[in-house]
Amino acid sequence: MLLPGATIGVLGGGQLGRMLAMEARRMGYRVRAVDPDPDACAAPFAELVQARLDDVDAALELAAHCDVLTIETEHVPAAVLAQIETVREVHPNSALLGTVQDRLRQRQFLARHGLPQTGWAAVDDLAGLEAALVTVGRPAVLKTRTEGYDGKGQLRIGVGDDPAAAWAALGRAPAVLEAWVAFEREISVVLARGHGGELAVYPVAENEHRHHVLHITRAPARITPAVAHRARELGVAVAEALGHVGVMAVEMFLLANGELLVNEIAPRTHNSGHYTLGGCATSQFEQHLRAICGLPLGDVTLPKPALMLNLLGDLWTDGEPPLAPILAHPGARLHLYGKAPRPGRKVGHVLVLTDDLDAAQAWADGVVG
Ligand code: AMP
Repeated sequence: MLLPGATIGVLGGGQLGRMLAMEARRMGYRVRAVDPDPDACAAPFAELVQARLDDVDAALELAAHCDVLTIETEHVPAAVLAQIETVREVHPNSALLGTVQDRLRQRQFLARHGLPQTGWAAVDDLAGLEAALVTVGRPAVLKTRTEGYDGKGQLRIGVGDDPAAAWAALGRAPAVLEAWVAFEREISVVLARGHGGELAVYPVAENEHRHHVLHITRAPARITPAVAHRARELGVAVAEALGHVGVMAVEMFLLANGELLVNEIAPRTHNSGHYTLGGCATSQFEQHLRAICGLPLGDVTLPKPALMLNLLGDLWTDGEPPLAPILAHPGARLHLYGKAPRPGRKVGHVLVLTDDLDAAQAWADGVVG
């Protein structure tokens, strides 16, 4: 067990690293983080090592000064984790990260374990894309195997669209073609798994995306108890098959017939779990620390329904940001990450705990327009 006083090393200093560091500091841990940006979000709460995430020497130097290491983004090369895990414990480990950070390997992993997912095919060139469109069908989504996030590196190919144009637009990177899912809802399961396999699963959340970026999370999700049970089972099956230690998010599509398909796995804290910070006794960030430090897992109950609204940089660049209406709401809890606002960039979020999530959602939609 690593008790407070120990040093946590984090690869990445974005908002997830920042909130992890804030929770770690509150609990009495020390935090060191690697990020190429001297003004990284986590910098005010961690000793920052300014280096690229593919810098093995910097990662080894970080490992030498930390008791346990973790990541806050999957865009850390698995090879870097492979190096540091020779000297320190790292969660997730390099093998797990290598599986999850590549969309093709993630799809193959799900297939190997019989976990439900949409139809897919690997695509390496234009001829491969044309063949994949025949097997997968249209509409479909072409996604780069690596480096994609928040809809970046993704293109929808509709019935009349030219595959050559899509292939050129994606930059010819190795990709995966996925069958388009006409889902009823998007949901996610955020859970923690400890060293001994113990589990703590947060209430299933419901996510609404705008332009492929998470807009609003509502928890609990508007789903039947049977669907919630199945979602939790699937989330746990993914975590167990991966042998994950720490917090993990599994995003899923709910179909009209009640079936669930796994869309994406994130072996880290997740935007759709931000409601736990303020909504639950143990936030996903504290829970991740508890799991990787070998502490008992904390309470995941959500005493009051929660709504989380993401704030994007557009709100700052398109005029006056809506801070006044947010601050005027007595129950709205504002989080700003200290990031320079740019269009499409997540710069903060708002949490509202309320028994009337519909009213909160109407308020949130009004705030961001
Ligand atoms: P991803 O990066 O895979 O999580 O995709 C971001 C968002 O794009 C998802 O949350 C969905 O809203 C949408 N999306 C991605 N893949 C599909 C798909 N196969 N069918 C329908 N919508 C999708």
